Amino acid sequence: MEYVFPVPSPPSVAVVGADVRFPVHRIYCVGRNYGEHAREMGFDAAREDPFFFAKPADAVVASGSTIPYAAATRNLHHEIELVVAIGRAGANITPETALEHVYGYAVGIDLTRRDLQLAARDKGRPWDTGKGFDDSAPIGAIVRAADKGHPSRGAIWLRVNGETKQSSDIAELIWPVPDIVAHLSKLFTLQPGDLIYTGTPAGVGPVVAGDRIEGGIEGVGEVRLLIAP
Ligand code: MN
Repeated sequence: MEYVFPVPSPPSVAVVGADVRFPVHRIYCVGRNYGEHAREMGFDAAREDPFFFAKPADAVVASGSTIPYAAATRNLHHEIELVVAIGRAGANITPETALEHVYGYAVGIDLTRRDLQLAARDKGRPWDTGKGFDDSAPIGAIVRAADKGHPSRGAIWLRVNGETKQSSDIAELIWPVPDIVAHLSKLFTLQPGDLIYTGTPAGVGPVVAGDRIEGGIEGVGEVRLLIAP
């Protein structure tokens, strides 16, 4: 097949202990999946159904990268999140079988142009400009579930310039991974290569040019990022 211009390689993520990379198909994200974060954003943490938004696949940024401060915002926020990497296709998946579709896990940052997101939210407009922009999905290497299992608890944290900003435990997820996979698969046929950012705990806040961001999840890994000075 010939194309009108050269086709780029797919966006991809490193895999711990493997020479091959995980090719990214789509990036889905869950909103308000920790009670304390829902409250800090002005919502009740009652168990409403999970809701989803998306980022373009090429928004992934490898851990260790330096990225420019995002365009068109004055309030770029960090959101540390557990990321689920899908390895097997499925639709209408049940929570009981959901983990069979999971290839592995990584630590990601759902970078957010909070000013644009809140303006959109308040006007009932889509979140795309606030969430799905260039370099908005930093992610560490994927650890395979076949190697490390499926984490259901473990500290999740984020520091900016060495100062702790977010600190919780993935056991605090309102909707745990099997429920997220099940709900999402009712809306979209999940495909190998899909990533699901599962939501952030409390403590989100702004970063500025020159900031060094580090985050991690016990038993999963870490992610590091520098906002270019
Ligand atoms: Mn998020």
